[in-house]
Amino acid sequence: MVPVVALVGRPNVGKSTLFNRLTRSRDALVADLPGLTRDRQYGHAKIEGRPFIIIDTGGITGGEVGIDGHMAEQSKAAVEEADIVLFVVDARSGLTAVDESLARDLRTFSKPVHLVVNKVDGIDVDAALADFYSLGFESVNPIAAAHGRGMSVLSEEVLLPI
Ligand code: GDP
Ligand code: MG
Repeated sequence: MVPVVALVGRPNVGKSTLFNRLTRSRDALVADLPGLTRDRQYGHAKIEGRPFIIIDTGGITGGEVGIDGHMAEQSKAAVEEADIVLFVVDARSGLTAVDESLARDLRTFSKPVHLVVNKVDGIDVDAALADFYSLGFESVNPIAAAHGRGMSVLSEEVLLPI
């Protein structure tokens, strides 16, 4: 079975940039407009010759209401389809209330969740990471998806062991 990896997180944290990096495509729309990726997008990745399926999602704004709380329908569907979840957060905005709420929602799925702290370019990485450790997920991985930084550690320590 080809492992399935879901990318979830708030809009604009860099999920689509990470998707493009992993799948080496420009299929996912990347823009400054929050919520641009409106639905799930599937891509193939090959890491050290091993195939993976990556699911990009539109992101959770915190504005969703009702029984699903902060977790938008399509992100929930992506998590249900996945073997592993990469919860993407933005190092520059730090840990937000929506991140914390989403973290609670993600714990209800009993799937392995690894935190990916994106946009660590040009900032103090240790200071940026400190808050995120408190979420207590499997691992905390600093990356700069736009520049390819941290990708090999993420691939080798998180994805390949699946
Ligand atoms: P998504 O809404 O989570 O899919 O986020 P996108 O991938 O569309 O990226 C949102 C914005 O963040 C875009 O302007 C990207 O260029 C920018 N971005 C993505 N990755 C990085 C990064 O590693 N560093 C910096 N500084 N900006 C990034
Ligand atoms: Mg996107």
